[in-house]
Amino acid sequence: RLEIKDLRRSYGGRAVVDGVSLQIMPGQVTCLLGPSGCGKSTTLRMIAGVEMQDSGTIHVDGNLICDTVFRVPPERREIGLMFQDFALFPHLSVADNVAFGLKGTKAEKRVRVEELLKRVDLLRFIDGYPHQLSGGEQQRVALARALAPKPRIMLMDEPFSGLDNRLRDGIRDETLSILKEEDTAVLLVTHEPDEAMRMADEIALMRDGVIVQQGAPYNVYTRPFDRAAVAFFSDAN
Ligand code: ATP
Ligand code: MG
Repeated sequence: RLEIKDLRRSYGGRAVVDGVSLQIMPGQVTCLLGPSGCGKSTTLRMIAGVEMQDSGTIHVDGNLICDTVFRVPPERREIGLMFQDFALFPHLSVADNVAFGLKGTKAEKRVRVEELLKRVDLLRFIDGYPHQLSGGEQQRVALARALAPKPRIMLMDEPFSGLDNRLRDGIRDETLSILKEEDTAVLLVTHEPDEAMRMADEIALMRDGVIVQQGAPYNVYTRPFDRAAVAFFSDAN
């Protein structure tokens, strides 16, 4: 369970994230939905620990991960990341890419890598290299890599936006169903209402650094917060 409270971050005196609070339960997908520049990626980077908040707290399963004085480093947060530009290492084999963050003996890692690649249906590429794979296949390897350390929480920043339409729906559904099976708490960033409507258990509508509305997709869609929210939903369709 991920819990963030009143996260804030300014750049050059401008509040980009201006008091964001969220709770995400295991097995649930929350979509952070909002227009370009509203602070979605900044919020995710703070949760991941690659960026420091000015104020606010982050808890995972009730344990404090970060406040303004205490800070667990990113690699010890048990948080998985899938970002659009979070590419595979081109010089490493598929197996080594997936094993990258894993600890243990070579044999132990191999077992886990095989299990994960089977999961994303790419075992046949285990000794291949990224350039031999299609964009969608690379994305599935990236998923296997993100799942490898069994994160309790997965942060996804438009990880599917680089894929063509035909591939995207399948990979997106597959990815989310694997994460649900693993009972992972998922925070998925998107600026596409369609994607949020399709994937989310809960939608958090963000604008100018704040969450203006939060609820089940149906409720957010049928009872938008204000005119701007109506326009956002209809423009994007
Ligand atoms: P998009 O949908 O386009 O990815 P976003 O909601 O993810 O947008 P952010 O990347 O969080 O938006 O950026 C929010 C605002 O903060 C933007 O106006 C951006 O220019 C600004 N910003 C982000 N990072 C920095 C930085 N390191 N220094 C200065 N300004 C920044
Ligand atoms: Mg962004």
